[in-house]
Amino acid sequence: MFDALSGKLGDVFDRLRRRGALSESDVIEAMRDIRLALLEADVALPVVRDFIAKVRLQAVGAEVLRAVSPGQQVVKIVNDALVDALGGEGAVPLNLNAASPIPFLMVGLQGSGKTTTSGKIALLLKEKQRKKVLLASLDTQRPAAQLQLAQLAERAGVASLPIVPGETPVQIARRAMETGRREVFDVVILDTAGRLAIDQALMDEVKAIRDVTAPAETLLVVDAMTGQDALATATAFNEAVSITGIVMTRLDGDARGGAALSMRAVTGAPIKLMGMGEKLDALEPFHPERIAGRILG
Ligand code: GDP
Repeated sequence: MFDALSGKLGDVFDRLRRRGALSESDVIEAMRDIRLALLEADVALPVVRDFIAKVRLQAVGAEVLRAVSPGQQVVKIVNDALVDALGGEGAVPLNLNAASPIPFLMVGLQGSGKTTTSGKIALLLKEKQRKKVLLASLDTQRPAAQLQLAQLAERAGVASLPIVPGETPVQIARRAMETGRREVFDVVILDTAGRLAIDQALMDEVKAIRDVTAPAETLLVVDAMTGQDALATATAFNEAVSITGIVMTRLDGDARGGAALSMRAVTGAPIKLMGMGEKLDALEPFHPERIAGRILG
């Protein structure tokens, strides 16, 4: 993961570390390299600009330049800023502090891994938290979507909402919550339909579902391969339904993962989980410091 990013930044940092004394122009040059490395890792341009501006301000400070090993100090400043930008230290747990049945709303573009992640979260809550989970697909766009979620639920050993043909997503959401109350489920995971691109109909639908369910978590599922458009995706979903957390999928692949920085920057929502494979148990807490470490190589 983050291979390209690590390689690039690794070179910059090696150079910095080796320097005995640093001048302001050394730091500025290093910042230029870091900027390029972040852009190549698909971090969105405005996010890169903010990050560099913040770091440069600290790094060219007189204290740093006069320090015994200024290169090391600059490396530390960049590392700390990166951990901070990824959400600070430690993983943020899913919010289960709500009255049962606790609604979780899953949103994101088609193909982001939303349905798989719904199944993974259901399994996680069942295994680790002993929760009784109901999975419900609100995807009436793709005929196979509801069936796909029902099959995932079976594999995870959790319940899924029986399919009633002809219902609208909002009707399914209402029925899911009613079933959740009647059959005393702890958590109801609502998997919404994705689209290939953001459109108004998708956003209106997601808003309507949010309004009838009042979710404790609205999780944006994002493919780690998402590049510069991560910013637009996150902005659109956040404006429509206020994201409470992000799940990055496909971090098992060779994705550069710059989307993590962009998403976090634009929504302010924590990246809570990361998808590490296709299997249902391939879901891990997102640890900013671990990811920053990998980025820095
Ligand atoms: P949706 O359209 O957003 O619901 O996407 P799906 O859940 O159907 O996932 C699309 C594809 O991505 C499927 O083949 C999944 O197995 C795969 N997938 C989902 N999450 C991950 C992940 O974390 N790692 C890998 N390697 N594949 C994933």
